[in-house]
Amino acid sequence: MLPSIKKLLTLQDRDQKMKAVLTEIAALPREKAARDRELKAADDRLEAARSRQREIEVERKKREVEVKAKQDQIARYKNQQLETRKNEEFSALKHEIEGAEKAIIEIEDSELVLMEEAEALKPNLLAAKEAHTAEKKKVESHMASLDSRRENLTARQKELESERSGFTEGIEEDLLDHYNRLFKSKGGMALVTVEHEVCTGCHMKVNTQTILEVKAEKEIVGCPQCGRILFEPQ
Ligand SMILES: [Zn+2]
Repeated sequence: MLPSIKKLLTLQDRDQKMKAVLTEIAALPREKAARDRELKAADDRLEAARSRQREIEVERKKREVEVKAKQDQIARYKNQQLETRKNEEFSALKHEIEGAEKAIIEIEDSELVLMEEAEALKPNLLAAKEAHTAEKKKVESHMASLDSRRENLTARQKELESERSGFTEGIEEDLLDHYNRLFKSKGGMALVTVEHEVCTGCHMKVNTQTILEVKAEKEIVGCPQCGRILFEPQ
């Protein structure tokens, strides 16, 4: 194998590792956003369980106000009864009072129904709260592991960056530029093998003349179709 091909292969291996690290780093924000959505969904589920409970509270308060209003009404009617001397008016007020008392009983009955519903919802709410706590804990630990992965990846990135100059040593500048361009434009595959007369980079058949040049291992040979640097598998 040509010494420069050997050097470039080592460099390519290191650059591919770097590429993988950078791809993983780039994917982290997306993963974090997915975890954020999970957290939001857990919050929504808890909120849904709580909302009926809150509705019931509101309904109960409304009924308490209604009862109070009816009681005030009754007190007023009773005062009016004390003041009136007309029998007709007195019995009309009595009728009003009875109506208000009946209304109070009905309101209180419906309040009781609401209280029973609230009581029945308690276990659901408790389960929803427990589920929410567990989900939140899970997502938070995911988040923490994402953070530590970012740290590890960044450290690895720095390590690979600092190593690179060592790997480019002894490679001719023009060849290195050529390699760098290929690595960038050919999806991290600047050097590929020829197998069964086919370039493993573009999967096109390579002509005999090129195959012979590759086999001779005298110079750098590019694939006539894709331009990648070709070498014989060892
Ligand atoms: Zn090719």
